[in-house]
Amino acid sequence: MRKLFITFSVLFFGVLFGQNNSIVVMRDGKNVGILTPDTIDGYLYISTDQLVTIGGGPRYFAKKKFKESMRLWGTRVVFSPENPFAVVDGTPYNLGLPVRLDKDGLMIPLTGFFETFALATNYRMIFHSDTIELTSIEQSRSEISGTTEIESLSQTPPKNENENSARKKGKKGLIVIDPGHGGKDPGAIGPSGIREKDITLAIAKDLKSELESRNYEVVLTRDSDVFIPLSDRSKLANKLKADLFISIHCNASKKSGPHGTQGFYLSPAKTNEARAAAALENKSLLMEDDPIIDNLDELQYIMADMVQSTYQRESSILSYIIEQNISKETNLEARGPQGAGFYVLYGTYMPAVLIETAFISNKKEEKFLTLPKNQRKIAEAIA
Ligand SMILES: [Zn+2]
Repeated sequence: MRKLFITFSVLFFGVLFGQNNSIVVMRDGKNVGILTPDTIDGYLYISTDQLVTIGGGPRYFAKKKFKESMRLWGTRVVFSPENPFAVVDGTPYNLGLPVRLDKDGLMIPLTGFFETFALATNYRMIFHSDTIELTSIEQSRSEISGTTEIESLSQTPPKNENENSARKKGKKGLIVIDPGHGGKDPGAIGPSGIREKDITLAIAKDLKSELESRNYEVVLTRDSDVFIPLSDRSKLANKLKADLFISIHCNASKKSGPHGTQGFYLSPAKTNEARAAAALENKSLLMEDDPIIDNLDELQYIMADMVQSTYQRESSILSYIIEQNISKETNLEARGPQGAGFYVLYGTYMPAVLIETAFISNKKEEKFLTLPKNQRKIAEAIA
């Protein structure tokens, strides 16, 4: 009896926590294949290699596997790494979690993908513990004859059931602050040799204590002079399920004249000025040990399907408010918030802003940024 019980619990927990549970995929009542998902950060993911076996047509890997496109039952789907959006039949959908790149290639969030795919192709998706059932809305309508009620489908990404640690502790929220650059990447350097990486860290530390005093939990992406790849910064925020991501920087120009403070959010750049700011901050990618790009032009390729994110509205409003507050507090000129393709914001799935606090290339503002009381003022204004 005891042995039986042990066998039973092993089986039971195997179902709950195992890595290799097979999931049968049914489409319009037909068994179309079996998937064996992996668990990444507590969520079920499926490799594109497996996905293609259940209904895949031709597959195409783009250069360096930045993107993969495949046909599933005739519908074209495009995935790219660290991107929470999949493009289904030309329309971007939020998968709720980013696509991951691991040794087996791209890993796709299982539930988010099938929900999205069902929605995009006019299907209904039901996920049991070991079965994913896809039923065309037409067919399910005829099956439930006499009932007009059809399960509603929404485009909202799957909600993270487990809240972040801050909310569990009764705090107002969890904020990840990202002091730009660090280590071998000094960032921009001012006319008298002040390094951006030192200024951003000082402001970030002030901002941390300011926010903590207002009952927020705060995590810094770095609290010392170390180099951290851009994608690791956004990944940390995702992993912690942060409510907000703030990247702190100093702007720089080849000319000495440009000045002022400016808030940015992720979106295709509309002006040369915004494009220049993003290019400046994205340069850090080239210093990574295993850079995903060889030159910044390639970045446009990886970010080509950067789309209106769910959080873009919130992020743009926030970048405006922060910029205004800094300007009021410090008398730095507000340059007007803008969207641009900042890689560090790409792949975060929460409201995310990047603040160019002031121009380190401008003599007057370089000096301004150096003074601790001004760093504190900026931090208070952001908070
Ligand atoms: Zn910077």
